[in-house]
Amino acid sequence: MAEDRSSADVVVVGAGPVGLLLAGELAGAGVDVVVLERLDVPTTASRASTLHARTMEILDSRGLLPRFGRPLSELRGHFGGIPLDLTLPSSHPGQWKVPQTTTEAVLQEWAIARGAVIRRGIEVTDVAEGTGQVAVRAAGRGGEAVVRASYVVACDGEDSTVRRLVGADFPGQDAGRELLRADVDGIDVPDRRFERLPEGLAIAARRADGVTRVMVHDFGARAGHRDSEASFEEVAAAWKQVTGEDISAGTPLWVNSFGDVSRLLARYRHGRVLFAGDAAHKQMPIGGQALNLGLQDAFNLGWKLAAVIRGQNGEELLDTYHDERHAVGTRVLVNIRAQALMLLGGPDVEPLRSVLAELIGHEEIRAHLAGMISGLDIRYDMGGGSHPLLGARLPHATLRAGGDRVTTAALLHGGSGLLLDLRGGRGGGLECAGWPDRVTAVNGRAGPGSALDGAGAVLVRPDGYVAWAGDEGLTEALTRWFGPAR
Ligand SMILES: Cc1cc2nc3c(=O)[nH]c(=O)nc-3n(C[C@H](O)[C@H](O)[C@H](O)COP(=O)(O)OP(=O)(O)OC[C@H]3O[C@@H](n4cnc5c(N)ncnc54)[C@H](O)[C@@H]3O)c2cc1C
Repeated sequence: MAEDRSSADVVVVGAGPVGLLLAGELAGAGVDVVVLERLDVPTTASRASTLHARTMEILDSRGLLPRFGRPLSELRGHFGGIPLDLTLPSSHPGQWKVPQTTTEAVLQEWAIARGAVIRRGIEVTDVAEGTGQVAVRAAGRGGEAVVRASYVVACDGEDSTVRRLVGADFPGQDAGRELLRADVDGIDVPDRRFERLPEGLAIAARRADGVTRVMVHDFGARAGHRDSEASFEEVAAAWKQVTGEDISAGTPLWVNSFGDVSRLLARYRHGRVLFAGDAAHKQMPIGGQALNLGLQDAFNLGWKLAAVIRGQNGEELLDTYHDERHAVGTRVLVNIRAQALMLLGGPDVEPLRSVLAELIGHEEIRAHLAGMISGLDIRYDMGGGSHPLLGARLPHATLRAGGDRVTTAALLHGGSGLLLDLRGGRGGGLECAGWPDRVTAVNGRAGPGSALDGAGAVLVRPDGYVAWAGDEGLTEALTRWFGPAR
């Protein structure tokens, strides 16, 4: 056990992608963070493979994208299996194909380089909140130990131990239907993209290495409780039932099942214990939204928790984490359930699918759904004001600032707030001198036609969301999001 670390500002439970991104954010903001992870080494299991546009923008805003190499991307997505063009204004529109193992490796290296301590082979077994601290009990090869922290963030996945330990209310519904999937070598079946056949749903995609990923749902099948993982025999039988094709002679490399479970924590914050990622929401990974939702939780929480720990802000800032991310989680889970119904529902959902397919042909509806899936349409409640950017993410643009050309993403690399004055010297100076360590002031110019042309002055939070825009109320906004002036 980590005897050398009996205390930390923050203990993060779980070194999955969400815990690692959070640890990197906290460490980069000068917070003493320890991650406790029960696995000795990162899993190599095949899981999520898609990063959506907003997640790519977030990674870009910390300068992380070069570490991902040159992932393939495509604008073609789907909504409940109905083709959906994901084109939207963004530096990284569409879906980006990145194996989850790569995402975790990049984030782990980054978090460690920023000073996070990651302890593997250590399982958290108890969490007890006392006055001003939380005691985290954990067991490892070296025995048991307790790490005391000001805050604990549970990033311990969909079967979260911490969620159970604190008795958190986790309303929703269990899986009624399930999708079986397998990576199979040595089979030759036609590629199928969300093909709904009379007996069920079949998906097949052959990779360059000859391995085919098949996914199948037999319309009659109900999800039951599983004590063990699905077998290849089950997959082959369902495939035969739905497509008539026999894949039983293939060699299964990986078999997995997932259901249309949908649960969301009632509160993302329980005193000094917070939840992020799958620990806060359990959902079917349709459209690759599960991982993206979790990464964006971590990005919302990191700077807020750091500000509270540094004593800049009061704890009410942490309540905005719940307010903002619970609302986003609610909305994403609804769209996932809608998609699950459309994908796994029997012939009775066909009329609904036909109507939606027709509606998606209208640009406004296509763009609306693309904004929802990609995370680009998120808009947080920042209080009054009618500026079109208020609450939205700072859009991608290249600006002229101090004689240089700089992207909006690069301006956020340092992880501090940003007061961006694009008024071209009109309207007098903006005052943020009382927040020198928390907010960077930048005077710039946005070119004609750029997404920030005519935007005026905006205050941007470290997670890239516009907290204030316009002329009035800057001091109040600075104080609300960055604490009192020094
Ligand atoms: C088989 C499978 C396929 C998936 N496919 C997709 C997909 O196609 N698209 C998609 O978007 N999403 C998919 N997902 C979901 C996606 O992988 C998750 O949304 C993502 O991993 C969530 O990240 P996380 O960090 O919140 O949790 P996790 O990745 O689950 O990480 C949690 C970590 O906490 C650790 N942990 C748990 N309990 C303890 C404890 N008591 N003490 C210490 N450590 C603990 C675990 O070992 C783990 O490393 C899939 C998931 C699985 C399992």
